[in-house]
Amino acid sequence: MAAGAESRSLPEHCTLLTQCRMCGSADLAQFLDLGWQPLANAFLDAAALDAPEPLYPLRVVFCSRCCLVQLREVVDAAVLFLRYVYFSSGMPASAHFQRYAKP
Ligand SMILES: [Zn+2]
Repeated sequence: MAAGAESRSLPEHCTLLTQCRMCGSADLAQFLDLGWQPLANAFLDAAALDAPEPLYPLRVVFCSRCCLVQLREVVDAAVLFLRYVYFSSGMPASAHFQRYAKP
């Protein structure tokens, strides 16, 4: 696993969450640090396989006022969704999960 998020400075296009997204409280308690990770669902094409992949800290915090669990670092949407391949409405597994959810 990559080093903890505390040991490196934030990368470009990434900001530190200082207030809860739901209630605005600054009372956020970190309870999980998954280190530095590549962006989710950003699959690489063949030309990018030999280049270093950008990594971002993946830490999870809990808001003690409203109980919302959220990510501590926020990657700019333009970067996060630049090559984001997951579309929930178009995924073929959707019908499967609809059948699975029926009693
Ligand atoms: Zn909150």
